[in-house]
Amino acid sequence: MRADLLKKELRIFSFADLLETFPYRYVDKTRIHRIAEIRSDSDAVLLSGTITKIELTGEKRGRRLTAVLSDSTGRIELAWFQGIHWVQKNLLAGAHYLVYGKPSFFMGKAQLTHPEVDPLEKDATSNARGFMEPVYPSTEKLKARGLNGRQIGKLSFQLFSQLSERDIPEFMPANLLNSLQLPGRWEAFRDIHFPRDPESCNRAIRRLKFEEFFLAQMRMGLIRTGRHRSSRGILFHKVGDVFHRFYAERLPFTLTDAQKRVLREIRQDTASGRQMNRLLQGDVGSGKTMVALMSMLLAADNGYQSCLMAPTEILARQHFEGISSLLKDFPVRVELLTGSVKAKERKQILKAAEDGSLHILIGTHALIEDKVSLPGLGLVIVDEQHRFGVEQRARLWGKGNILPHVLVMTATPIPRTLAMTAYGDLDTSIIDELPPGRQPIITVHRLEDSRPQVMEFIKAEIKSGRQAYIIFPLIEESEKLNYENLMRGYENVKAWFPEPTYWISMVHGRMKADQKDTNMQRFVRGDTQIMVSTTVIEVGVNVPNATVIVIESAEKFGLSQLHQLRGRVGRGAEKSYCILLTGNKISREAKERLSILSQTNDGFKIAEKDLELRGPGDIEGTRQSGALQFRLANIVADREILEKARAASVAILDDDPGLEKSEHQGLRKYLQTGREKHPWSKIS
Ligand code: ADP
Ligand code: MG
Repeated sequence: MRADLLKKELRIFSFADLLETFPYRYVDKTRIHRIAEIRSDSDAVLLSGTITKIELTGEKRGRRLTAVLSDSTGRIELAWFQGIHWVQKNLLAGAHYLVYGKPSFFMGKAQLTHPEVDPLEKDATSNARGFMEPVYPSTEKLKARGLNGRQIGKLSFQLFSQLSERDIPEFMPANLLNSLQLPGRWEAFRDIHFPRDPESCNRAIRRLKFEEFFLAQMRMGLIRTGRHRSSRGILFHKVGDVFHRFYAERLPFTLTDAQKRVLREIRQDTASGRQMNRLLQGDVGSGKTMVALMSMLLAADNGYQSCLMAPTEILARQHFEGISSLLKDFPVRVELLTGSVKAKERKQILKAAEDGSLHILIGTHALIEDKVSLPGLGLVIVDEQHRFGVEQRARLWGKGNILPHVLVMTATPIPRTLAMTAYGDLDTSIIDELPPGRQPIITVHRLEDSRPQVMEFIKAEIKSGRQAYIIFPLIEESEKLNYENLMRGYENVKAWFPEPTYWISMVHGRMKADQKDTNMQRFVRGDTQIMVSTTVIEVGVNVPNATVIVIESAEKFGLSQLHQLRGRVGRGAEKSYCILLTGNKISREAKERLSILSQTNDGFKIAEKDLELRGPGDIEGTRQSGALQFRLANIVADREILEKARAASVAILDDDPGLEKSEHQGLRKYLQTGREKHPWSKIS
């Protein structure tokens, strides 16, 4: 019965689960206070003394039970208004008790209302009394069956008293534990359940958190190094004519140091004889496209095909146009494959892909993934990865005989902690530098009241030849609402910016691809001065002449998304502005989010903040990732432990990639079998 409830309510199936049902807090009962010590600002206190004068007073709702507790230093009143019957049954005048509660003051007199009262020296758990008392999770249903947190504590205690060090063997290398001053596994389990004092408790928690991170890092590290050791990779053995000529004749600017460094990393990977699996992070506008293009030229120089996948048709087209114009009259054939390519042309492209005359294929993820045969595929580049699920990434590996090199580019900087956990199986490169001369985008938060001024500001920018975006939020629940919302917004914008002085483009999710494209192109060419859109515009779009972006109902967006949107401006030489419009009343959290954005343009900082504010579960692209589920540890709060676990696992794998050394046998075995099989039976 109990077992069934435990299974259902807390998912405790076996003793091992019980052992891993950790207290969620402790009551510090390490020190017994004297009654005379109690002050008006005292926290909860543990008292030891004799109970006298048990009295029942009042009628019905006014009924109360009082008693007096005395020790050698004074007396204090105890009072109960509920559960009186039960308490009364358990109190014996003249007997000795341990009493725990938070003092309150009533007419200058100290009182404990509803204190915990335990007869001194009664049951087994009282061994733990006078120490740190663990508080376990319970649920309403369990409580109704008499299984409150305390009972679960008793079960753990009984279980624990039957276990010995042998039952919870160590698997971490001894020198690692020593150097980090972490307790052994048995000790850690004992002390997390039944700590003697706050220090041993903290040490135990630290060890177990470390263990969680460390195991996850080892698992991913083994995938990474295993791939390094065993995967056959395509060899780009030279940097050839195409690359060199492009560098000398076509490169429109000097590469930043960060771009050069990343290209070197890619060059090294692709010349190593093993498959590259690299995550390239770079803030919006940091110049990832050029890195992608030059990597593809490297592939072409070595006789291999590449494909570049974008999350939307608009982006794919934009990449195609930019890249084909840079490669004009070069011996490199570039094609675009999207849903709007006509059947005849598509056939030709597919044929060229198949016979190898095509070098670079650009398209959306879906198209390239399904239909195309690229026998000479040597490099796959995925742009703006965060739009794709982590699982989709895995599917790419499967194509072709020898795996192509893979470069995943993301414009949503991933906090380091997340990169290590959710993407720990990839090698990472970071572009941490913007091209020179970029001015920071000026970001302000404006309330609905100032809409007229905001619109006038846009007019002034347009008058001096600039363009503007006006973005409306996506409402998750309903596409219809989105559409209506956007249409209302559009009418509103039109009222402020009437034709023929102004022309407006609009792009939204319900439009056909070619319609979207036409609207986009009009804006790109400067035929329209204003782009009204939902967040389809979010990633990658590049219109350097646009200097203002207004984000309507900005409180509805997450931080990273706002940063992405803001990245649509500030791409040219002109000073740019991001205006966050909200209603007059917004929550404090929303205000905080918007103010962070006004303070910094650094995508990495914003990503860290976003993670702090929302927690890992909500970060886009990682939502389904089990990699972030830890029992005790938290990748935000415990990032320092995570860094140490990462470093430790890297060091071990550098030293002994196959875990063959004798000191790593325990670890190896543990990793192979998952959670060790405890010798004891299931709860029945
Ligand atoms: P993102 O990393 O967001 O994809 P892009 O590749 O679209 O950024 O680059 C943003 C803009 O910066 C483009 O207009 C691009 O031509 C320009 N750019 C890229 N690298 C440099 C550089 N080293 N110097 C000057 N401008 C650059
Ligand atoms: Mg980009």
